[in-house]
Amino acid sequence: MDTIVALATAPGRSAIGVIRLSGPRSLAIASSLIEESDFQPHPAQVILKTIKLDSADLDQALFTYFRAPHSYTGEDVLEISCHGSPVILRQVVDQMLLLGARLAGPGEFTLRALSNGKLTLSQAEAVRDLIDARTDAAARQAARQLKGELSARLQRSKQRLLDMIVLLESALEFVEDDLPALERERLHKTLAELLADLSLLAETFQVGHFLRDGLKVAIIGRPNVGKSSVFNRLLSSERAIVTEVAGTTRDTLTEPINLHGVPVMLTDTAGVRESLDRIEKIGVERTQQAMVDADLVLVVIDGSMALTREDHDVLSQVESSPHVVVCNKSDVPSYNILLDPSASNPTIVKVSAVTDQGMDQLRAAILAAFGLWESSEAGLLITDARHYDLLRRSLLEIKGSAQLLNEEASEELIVVGLHNALQSLGEITGETTTEDILSQIFATFCIGK
Ligand code: GDP
Repeated sequence: MDTIVALATAPGRSAIGVIRLSGPRSLAIASSLIEESDFQPHPAQVILKTIKLDSADLDQALFTYFRAPHSYTGEDVLEISCHGSPVILRQVVDQMLLLGARLAGPGEFTLRALSNGKLTLSQAEAVRDLIDARTDAAARQAARQLKGELSARLQRSKQRLLDMIVLLESALEFVEDDLPALERERLHKTLAELLADLSLLAETFQVGHFLRDGLKVAIIGRPNVGKSSVFNRLLSSERAIVTEVAGTTRDTLTEPINLHGVPVMLTDTAGVRESLDRIEKIGVERTQQAMVDADLVLVVIDGSMALTREDHDVLSQVESSPHVVVCNKSDVPSYNILLDPSASNPTIVKVSAVTDQGMDQLRAAILAAFGLWESSEAGLLITDARHYDLLRRSLLEIKGSAQLLNEEASEELIVVGLHNALQSLGEITGETTTEDILSQIFATFCIGK
């Protein structure tokens, strides 16, 4: 195994920059940078040293030594906290490369932790998700997964599968005896419980994936109903230009917001209307695109006046997709909702983008449309499409086996599906993951992690 090195902190000027070394030559390489190496064979040790380069002082740095196997990777690890000057950090890394270290690839430290049994694959992915988390709720979910909650939950299911496989295979060894009726009955019950348990877990992806990938919400409506004003209110800033001239939002504007811990990409679109103006027309096309891309559409109407033909056109366009009708301008005396709420069964929220009235209800309605309300308090969620796909595959296999058991098929046939299901669950935690898949997963990590 070679020794790898990488800058673990973000590139650029900062108070402190951390360089990480892992592998059998870590201690020797780090020792060559200082005059007197007095590292002790403790599990971990921190010492302040002067780094020398060509016998000149380069920096004063803290050397943290984690002796194998008491480290993140399970190997000898040195973390060197230098002053965060890109010039110093580059010289130190260059010197380490000269001394025989190799630049680490993305996630290579974590990959080594996985190989050395320090983490399961789903925990390793949680490390990546924790670093990438865009909201508190997303970070909390990643932290739960990092603690091993998902691995532990799957471990229970894997153990049940294994028990059933052992039972069926031992029955196979004694060919003359079929599985006794009582055993079949027990198998039946365990399969049903396993299916229910794993289905519940898989279903959480419907909510969980929004925590990781974010929810795409587009605001549409005819010109001047107050789309940009609603957009700004949700953003709590003045990012979009608000004017009284119809058609001023000519292009789409997208901004990330945080709705009760759920990352939302909010898009303000140009007014949906027929236009001869070429530039505005491009904006209108982008609006159509934003509508297609969105997970949820907010249709803004002006509640202070009767609905126009254009309003009806917009409402009919979104009829079959998830949407919330935002009835704006509730502060105007002539405000009166003329929509029949039962028509296409939409959620209607009364708001005033000027006074902020109803904006909290609007935020709640956006999340409620996805069952995301108070998701930050939810239990363990599946957030990763890879995990969801493997759970679904394992569910299909278990269903197949349950079906065969119903049809009184032979143990030999029933056991195949259970083996496949076990294989899929093992791919989530990494025991049965191929090298190819591992390199695909680790390519999505940061360098230095
Ligand atoms: P857009 O064309 O749909 O994006 O609409 P804008 O956000 O640019 O707003 C059009 C006009 O309606 C502006 O004059 C806003 O000040 C006004 N407006 C927007 N929301 C409200 C509201 O809730 N109450 C009142 N009274 N006026 C509003």
